Amino acid sequence: MNMIQLTFPDGRQKSFENQPTGLDVAMDISKGLARESVALELDGQIVDLSTRITADAQIRIITIKDKEALEILRHSAAHVMAEAILRIYKDAQLTIGPVVGDGFYYDIDMTAVSADDFPKIEKEMRKIVQSKTVFERQEVSKAEATAFFEDEPYKLEMISDLEDGTISFYKQGAFTDLCRGPHIPHTGFIKAFKLTKVSGAYWRADQQNAQLQRIYGTAFFSKKDLDTYLYLLEEARKRNHRKLGTELELFSFHDEAPGMPFFHAKGMVVWNLLLEYWREEHKNAGYVEIKTPIMLNRNLWERSGHWDNYRENMYFSTIDEYDYAIKPMNCPGGMLVYKSKRHSYKDLPIRAAEVGLVHRHELSGVLSGLFRVRAFHQDDAHIFMTPDQIGDEILGVLHLVERIYSTFGLGFHLELSTRPEKSIGTDQQWDQATEGLRAALTAYKKAFVINEGDGAFYGPKIDAHIEDALGRTWQCGTLQLDMSLPDRFDLSYIGSDNEKHRPIMIHRTIYGSIERFFGILIEHFAGKFPLWMAPVQAVILPINDTLTPYCRKEKEMLEQHGIRCEVDSRTESLNKKVREAQLNKIPLILTIGEKEKKSNTLSVRTLDGKVKYGVTQDPFLKQVLEHVQSRALAMEIFKD
Ligand SMILES: [Zn+2]
Ligand SMILES: [Zn+2]
Repeated sequence: MNMIQLTFPDGRQKSFENQPTGLDVAMDISKGLARESVALELDGQIVDLSTRITADAQIRIITIKDKEALEILRHSAAHVMAEAILRIYKDAQLTIGPVVGDGFYYDIDMTAVSADDFPKIEKEMRKIVQSKTVFERQEVSKAEATAFFEDEPYKLEMISDLEDGTISFYKQGAFTDLCRGPHIPHTGFIKAFKLTKVSGAYWRADQQNAQLQRIYGTAFFSKKDLDTYLYLLEEARKRNHRKLGTELELFSFHDEAPGMPFFHAKGMVVWNLLLEYWREEHKNAGYVEIKTPIMLNRNLWERSGHWDNYRENMYFSTIDEYDYAIKPMNCPGGMLVYKSKRHSYKDLPIRAAEVGLVHRHELSGVLSGLFRVRAFHQDDAHIFMTPDQIGDEILGVLHLVERIYSTFGLGFHLELSTRPEKSIGTDQQWDQATEGLRAALTAYKKAFVINEGDGAFYGPKIDAHIEDALGRTWQCGTLQLDMSLPDRFDLSYIGSDNEKHRPIMIHRTIYGSIERFFGILIEHFAGKFPLWMAPVQAVILPINDTLTPYCRKEKEMLEQHGIRCEVDSRTESLNKKVREAQLNKIPLILTIGEKEKKSNTLSVRTLDGKVKYGVTQDPFLKQVLEHVQSRALAMEIFKD
C-alpha cells in the first residue's frame, strides 16, 4: 500500500493510507477541527477541503479563524447570491463575481435593481444557505465548457479567453458557475450575510459595453461578526471627517484648489494645538527644528533622484528661464542644511525636524477629504548619526512614537520591511541597516510584523500603524534608513580618527501628513475632541437676558485663564442652545441662572450627557486647567 506523508506547519509529520481528503486529515486530528475547517493549503496552494491528497505534501488546514477563510466564504456567498438572482430574474446573465475589500460583488446583466429588491434576493439566498448544499468542483475541457455555457454570452467570452486545458466549474445544487475556486464545503457555512449596495458597472469596465448591475454584499461565519461589522460601518458613516469637518467648521475644499484643504478658524485652533504639542515633545526628545523653501531648482531634484523617479507626482514652474519644482518631500532641503556646516562626530546625532508643506500631484479620482490630498504638511525629521548610534536613535524614535500616539488614545503596531528586489547598496550595508532596525525593535519589546522585501529601494523601514477607536488601522508614522541621499549629497562628518565619514541617516514621521492625522483624529474622537484640543472648550448659556452681562464677565475670567469660551446670548430656548452646543461638540456647557449667580456657582453639562448643579467656581477652574495642562483624554470634571 502506498503511504502518503503529510507535513504540518509546525513541522509535525503524519502518514496516511488511501489518499485522504483535507477533511479526512482534519477529522483525523479532531471532530471539532473538522467542523471548523474551510479549505486546505496544499504545498502553498489553497484548494477545496474535499481535495484528495495524492502525494507527499506540506499541508495546512484552513479554518474559520484564518483570514483566508473569510475570502473563500465571501466568494461562495457571491455564488449563492447569483443562484438566488437567477431564480428570481430568469433573464439575468452572470459575468464576474469577485471578493473585494470587506465583501463581494457580482456584476450581472439584468433589469435595474435597487436596495428595495434586496430583501427578496436575501430571502432566496437564505433558502440556499439553509439547504447546506455542497459545493462540487468539476473539471472539464474547453469544448465541454463552451457547450455547457452556450446560452451565456459573458461566460462564453471568458471561456474563449482561457487557455485550452482543464477548466473548472463549481456546482451547488442546480447552479453551476465557471470558477477557479476554492469554495467552502457547503452553503451552510454562510452563517450571516447581507447585501449592502448596488451600482452600475460596464462589462470589462468599457462604456461601449452593456451596463451591468453590480450588487455588493458581505458574509461572515457568525451573526455576531456581521452585527459588529454593520455597527462599525454605521459609526464610520457618522464619524466621517468630511461631514464633521463641515458641521464643526473646521475646514473646507473648493474647486479653485482641488485636493488642497482650506482650514477655518476653528480648524486652525486644533491645528496649532497639534503642532504646539508636537514641538513640545520633539524639543524634549532633543530635536531642533528647521524650515526649507517650498520651491527648489531642477539641479537639486536631479541630484536627489526625484527628477528621474518622482517627476509625474510633482508640480513645476519656470523662473528666469530656469526649471523649478515645488517640493514633494522635505528631505533634499534638509540635506542642504546639514551640508552647510562642517560636522564632527561630537555633534552627532543631529535630529533636525521640519514641518514642511509638500505638494504631490494625485489623480483627481483618488482625492478623499483630508485622507488623500495634493498639498499637505509632513512632520519629517532627519537624524544624522554614526553607525554605533543607530540602535539608540531608533529606540528613541519608537518611544517618541508611543508617547505621541498614546496622548490621543491611539494604539499602534509596528511593521519592519526588508530589502526589496530592486534596491541600491551592498549586502553588507543592507544587513547592517536591517539588523540595526531589528535589534532596536527587539529592545523595544513590542511584537512586530515583518514584511519581507517591502522596504524602500534605498533602505529598510519600520512603519507604525495606528489603531483608532473603531479598530481601523492607518499607517501614519514611518522610520526609514536611507543609504542613498547621504551619498547623493556627499554628506560627511569628521570622525575621531580625523577622517571623513559618511553619516547614517534616517527619515522619520510620526503624524505623517498632519492633514490626514487631523482627519483620523476627527473620526477617532467622532468630533468630540478632548478638552485640551476642543476649538471651543466652554459655552456659557444665560437662562435669561438679564444674566448676559454676568455671563460675559464669567467668560472674561475663563479666557484670562486661557480657556476658549463663548457666551450664547441669543433669545432662544435653553434646550435649543444646549442641543446646538452638543451638536458643536463643546465639551463644557455651563448654564447660569439667578441661583448660580447668587451662589457664584455653575451648572456643568458634559458631552456624555451628565449634568452637575451647584459647581463652585474655584475647584471647577482648577480641574479644567489640570485637564488641559495634562492633555487628559477623558473628561472627569465631576471627580469629587
Ligand atoms: Zn466563483
Ligand atoms: Zn526625509
